Amino acid sequence: MSERFIFTKYRTVCYNCHQEADQVIKAVSSQAQVECDNCGATRIFVPRLEDVRDEGTFTPISCYDIWNLEATAACKNCGVEGPHDLIIGCNQFTTRCNNCGYTHFYKFNLEYVAKCPIEKSGE
Ligand SMILES: [Zn+2]
Ligand SMILES: [Zn+2]
Repeated sequence: MSERFIFTKYRTVCYNCHQEADQVIKAVSSQAQVECDNCGATRIFVPRLEDVRDEGTFTPISCYDIWNLEATAACKNCGVEGPHDLIIGCNQFTTRCNNCGYTHFYKFNLEYVAKCPIEKSGE
C-alpha cells in the first residue's frame, strides 16, 4: 500500500478479544481494513461497485454498531486535504470528502485473526 489515503484509529471494545483497544483503520482506493491493535483481528473491505441502495447493504449485523468517524485525507477527486467522514460497520466501509462529497464505498470481503500474517512462507 504505497498510496496513502485514510489512516486513523478508533478506540473501542474489540469484538474478537473483548478488550478495549485501538482499531487501526486504513484505506486506499483498492482496499480498506480495520485491524485490532491488541489481537490482530482484521477485517478487509474491497471497493463496491454495485448500487449501494441494494437491499441489506446498510443492515447492521452483529459485531459492532456503526462507527461515525472523521479523518483527514487528501481527496482524489478535488485534491483538497481535509476532513473525510468515515462510516464503518460490519459490512460496509464508506469514506466521503467533506469538501466535494466524493465518496468511496467498500464492502466487507474477509476477516482473519493473526498478528503476523506473513510469518509463514511457502504456502
Ligand atoms: Zn482484538
Ligand atoms: Zn473532495
